Amino acid sequence: MKSVVILGSTGSIGTKTLDVISRLNDKFKVIGLTCDSNAELLLRQIKLFNPQIAAIRDVSKYKALKDRLGSSKTKLYAGMEGIIRVAAHNKSDIVVIAISGSLALAPLLAAIKLSKKIALANKESLVMAGELVISLAREKKSQIIPIDSEHSAIFQCLNLTPTKLVKRLIITGSGGPLNNIAKSSLHKVKPKDALNHPKWDMGKKISIDSATLMNKGLEVIEAHWLFGIDAKNIDVLIHPEAIVHSMVEFIDGSIIAQLGPTDMRFPIQYALTHPDRFNSHNGSLDLTRIKNLSFKSPDFEKFPCLHLAYEALSMGGTSTAVLNGANEELVHLYLKGIIAITDIPRYIARVLDSHKVKKSPDLEDIMEADRFARSTVKEFLAKE
Ligand code: NDP
Ligand code: MG
Repeated sequence: MKSVVILGSTGSIGTKTLDVISRLNDKFKVIGLTCDSNAELLLRQIKLFNPQIAAIRDVSKYKALKDRLGSSKTKLYAGMEGIIRVAAHNKSDIVVIAISGSLALAPLLAAIKLSKKIALANKESLVMAGELVISLAREKKSQIIPIDSEHSAIFQCLNLTPTKLVKRLIITGSGGPLNNIAKSSLHKVKPKDALNHPKWDMGKKISIDSATLMNKGLEVIEAHWLFGIDAKNIDVLIHPEAIVHSMVEFIDGSIIAQLGPTDMRFPIQYALTHPDRFNSHNGSLDLTRIKNLSFKSPDFEKFPCLHLAYEALSMGGTSTAVLNGANEELVHLYLKGIIAITDIPRYIARVLDSHKVKKSPDLEDIMEADRFARSTVKEFLAKE
């Protein structure tokens, strides 16, 4: 029986992780849960799973939630310190990082410091601080198993093959909800249409990133750090059917692909059970019903975010933290109806241009770059 902590249990990945665990309840037990502010759902999850510990980041909701827990044995904490306390719970075997955005970095580092096995869904932490996260994980012998479907696919295709035998990684993407919209109409796209992903049901931030293809850009950076492959050997292909979740080409020209239904419960289950595999209750792929598997190169002009991500990775140092911070801020502004979706890459390019890169950054340099990105976005916006 493995003990699991889920950070971000009330989100899209978090709830699917609980679903997987409910079906494998003879192998896994939930001992920690956290959320940002969704007290209602956290309360239901606590009643259902009886974790030893839980935390809500929004301090203003703590007291009412604690009162409603009544005689429950679950110890409840609040604030970011509370989340970090759950991340660092000494009884856990696996820590699932399903918090969205850059605030996942601190609890991720806290879990790695304690040599936990990490099932990592959050990609922003690796984009911001990949070098730091991976070197700490190596030092602490903390294993990071990806949940992001493309990285789970690559992880399975590689199957521990040495990096020197890899020619390239091929990250696939469905193309997102704006794939068939003309470039000239993109500026008019409303958040509700950009949130309407054709293949995946996900949280708001990643859904907008999928619409701008920033998600693929973040995934290139994530793959670089997870698998130690140069950006020039990481390609992105648009694959609208979303059946092939990614591929690896080896130096002898052989390509290995991972296929499966479009359901995050597959990579979540694999991250939990690795290196083992258990029966899945999530259905299976009917190959006879797949008429077509198509692949094409992405349109870098229509989706400049992808190019900006490659550029930030090649600039190195604090550039990717700036890319991530600016993007997070701009996605937020787009969702509030303040800017157009096409403003997102436009401002990111300007913020990257105005940043002085710091190589081999420490955590403070990264946080400073993140703050710089967010305040520069606001400054530019105020001037326009
Ligand atoms: P959601 O927005 O659905 O869920 C986010 C979770 O994190 C919620 O539990 C939320 O709590 C909590 N949270 C948000 N902000 C904070 C914060 N500042 N402090 C503490 N907790 C916080 O996101 P997703 O599940 O879609 O995505 C989670 C991560 O996984 C992202 O990094 C995303 O890129 C990655 N990912 C997601 C995929 C998907 O299919 N959804 C696929 C691949 C990767 P509350 O509910 O209270 O707001
Ligand atoms: Mg993905």
